[in-house]
Amino acid sequence: MNIIPIHSQRMPQSIADGFGRNMGYLRISVVDRCNLRCTYCRPNGDDFHAVAREQLLTFEEIIRVARLATQLGVHKIRLTGGEPLVRKGLVDAVAQIAALPDVRDLALSTNGILLKKFAKPLRNAGLHRVNISLDSLNPRTFEKLTGGGRLNEVLAGIHAAQDAGLTPIRINTVLVRGFNDQEAAALIDFSVREQLELRFIELMPMCEGLDWKRHYYPFAELLTQAEIIERVDLSLSQRQGSSSARYVPLRHTLGRIGLIEPMSNHFCDSCNRLRLMSDGKLRPCLSADQEVDLRAALRKGCDNETLLDLIRLATANKQKLSTYHFDSMGMQRSMIAIGG
Ligand code: SAM
Repeated sequence: MNIIPIHSQRMPQSIADGFGRNMGYLRISVVDRCNLRCTYCRPNGDDFHAVAREQLLTFEEIIRVARLATQLGVHKIRLTGGEPLVRKGLVDAVAQIAALPDVRDLALSTNGILLKKFAKPLRNAGLHRVNISLDSLNPRTFEKLTGGGRLNEVLAGIHAAQDAGLTPIRINTVLVRGFNDQEAAALIDFSVREQLELRFIELMPMCEGLDWKRHYYPFAELLTQAEIIERVDLSLSQRQGSSSARYVPLRHTLGRIGLIEPMSNHFCDSCNRLRLMSDGKLRPCLSADQEVDLRAALRKGCDNETLLDLIRLATANKQKLSTYHFDSMGMQRSMIAIGG
């Protein structure tokens, strides 16, 4: 892993990267532990070693970084993990981030297991909306993919988010060949019934525990399924702004599905994201292990200017294109560690 030493490069003056992309979006992973064990996310099952508690950024540190990032033009923040809802104190942290004057969009990514309990308190704290991961509507497939997860808990979480008004609710589904690739149409119908926005995500080679090449399901193939062609109007697909998804309208009803294709149709040109990992590394590109260590600076007692320079440095180091490709062997860091 390539940790760039502090002050080793010339600092740019703004939060735009070297390719003219403005970083308006910060994803913050608050913890790298999770209450599910998804086969494609967590390497080698029980061999996964979470960051030690004292190495996790504290919420105070996280909020300081978030505040500084907003001074550099970040206006959208997503809290993620691991599973963010397993970290104690999250609701209070949401309230503090929501109170930052420049945060216009505050979202959370969750597997939904604990949402029944937390949806209302999160909404009251100022969270705007949630993305919920849901890979299958079949309880047995769901259990297999998530290493023992219970589908009914996620469905209860979705309903709690609807009742709490954490909308629009997005459902994220990773399609994994041999597990859920034949369930896409059923998931579309579910999203229409429940008025949710469904987004399919291509499997990325991020986890050595899974034979990626065997399970990768390219969306060119998804879009040849008769059941999908029947439901969506492919001729009208389009990408909006800096969204990672291209959206395809549904045929027989209002609404749309999103296709996130990091492998076959990447969206690097419009990428505006930085990722703050739970161990305090700031990572400008999901696919590149090139990070700036904010925790070291924070714990050395650095001033705000130094931190701002480090955020600018990470931005300047953002690479032009993702390095995920079909010959990737699995990356050094899995999604659970980076924060999805
Ligand atoms: N626990 C939360 C959740 O379930 O949404 C947030 C973290 S999770 C790592 C974020 C997203 O990353 C999930 O939608 C998950 O399916 C996705 N993800 C994890 N590993 C992936 C991979 N190898 N390829 C594509 N998506 C992946």
